[in-house]
Amino acid sequence: MPKNIYRPSSLPRAFLCPGSLRNVPAEIESSGEPARVGNAVHMALAQFIRCGVGDFSYAASFYGVDADEVRWLYFEGVQWWERLKPFFEGGRVEAEHFMRRGNIQGTADVIAWLDGDCLRVLDWKSGYVLTDAWHQCSAYAWLGEEEIHGLPIERIECFVVWLRHGHLDKEHYTPEQLAKWRGSLDKDVLAKPKTYRAGDQCEYCRKRPKCRAFGKYLMAASDCMGNVMDAAHHVGLGAVYARAKQLKSAITKFDKIIALRVKTEGSVDLGDGTQLVQGMRDKTTMDLRKAWTILTDNFTADELVECMSASLSKFKKLCPDKAHREFLMSALEDAGAIETKSAPHGLKIEPIEQPQLENGGDKADG
Ligand code: SF4
Repeated sequence: MPKNIYRPSSLPRAFLCPGSLRNVPAEIESSGEPARVGNAVHMALAQFIRCGVGDFSYAASFYGVDADEVRWLYFEGVQWWERLKPFFEGGRVEAEHFMRRGNIQGTADVIAWLDGDCLRVLDWKSGYVLTDAWHQCSAYAWLGEEEIHGLPIERIECFVVWLRHGHLDKEHYTPEQLAKWRGSLDKDVLAKPKTYRAGDQCEYCRKRPKCRAFGKYLMAASDCMGNVMDAAHHVGLGAVYARAKQLKSAITKFDKIIALRVKTEGSVDLGDGTQLVQGMRDKTTMDLRKAWTILTDNFTADELVECMSASLSKFKKLCPDKAHREFLMSALEDAGAIETKSAPHGLKIEPIEQPQLENGGDKADG
C-alpha cells in the first residue's frame, strides 16, 4: 500500500498549496458542525437512493445536529435525485461506493457504470461556499475509471450538486484528459511536498492553526497596513483586505476554541496571578408560544412587527415539499409581503470590465 493516501476532497486545495497534503491522514474526519450536518445529509440520501426512503431524523440525531437543517438539505437532495436519476439508470448503480487507486481513496456518493462505455459519478455538497470542484471530480473520475477493471470506457461524467444553492456543476472527461490530470497531480503537487502557498485556500485547512506559511501570510498584513492610509497604494489595499479576511476568521476560530476549553474544563490559570473564567450576566428571554396571546391582546400588528423579525429562510425550511414552498413564496409575493433588493454585502475582489470599443475595437479612421 502507498505510504501516503490522499482524499479527492483535499485535492482542490493541494493544487494551490501542495504542502497542505503533508502528513494529513486520509481517513481524518472533520468534527465541526457543518461537516457533521454534511455527514448526516449524506447518510440519509444514501439510504434514500438504496431503499427509496431516508431517515433524516435518525441521521441528524446520530451526528448530533439540527434536524430541520438536515431535513431541508435532504429534501433538496431528494428532488435533485428525482431529476438526475434517469442519467444513472441502465447499469450498475451504487450509493456510497468506496474506491482506492494507487495513492488516492474516496467514497463516491453515487456512481453508475452504464452501457455505452460511460461512467457517471454524483457528489453531494452541503457547504455554504461554492468552490471549484474540478480537481475533486477529476479524482472521482480517475478512481471510477479503475473500477471497470480494464473494460474500455470513452466518457466519464461527474455531477456536483450544491444543495444549499440549488446549483449543479457538470464535468466531462476522456481517459486521455484524466491521464493528463494525474500527470499534473504528480508533477505539480505531489513532487512539491514542501511548497506552501497561503491564501483563501487556508480557510478550512486543518493545518492552519500550526502552519508557519499561514502565520507569515497574516504577519505580512502588518507590513501592508502602513500603506493602507495612502490611497495611491491600491495593491497594498488588496493585500491587506485578503489577509484581514483570514485574520478575522482565524480570530473567530481561536476565540471559539478557547471558550470551549473554559466551558468544558473550567477556569484556566494564566500563570501570572490571573485566570480566564466564563463571564456571566443575566439575560431575560421570552417564550413566544406562551406570550403570543398576551402580546396580540395588547399591541397592534404594526407595533408587533416593529419588535419582531421573521426569517424567510426558516419558513422555507418548514416546507420540504418544493410545490408547497413555491406556493408559499408566490402567495407572499402576491401579498406584497416580500421584496428583493440589492444591499451591500461585504467587499469582494473582481476583474475590472474593459469598456467595449465601437466598430469591434478597430481604430477610427483619420
Ligand atoms: S494553512 Fe494555508 S499555507 Fe498552510 S498548509 Fe494550509 S493551505 Fe497551505
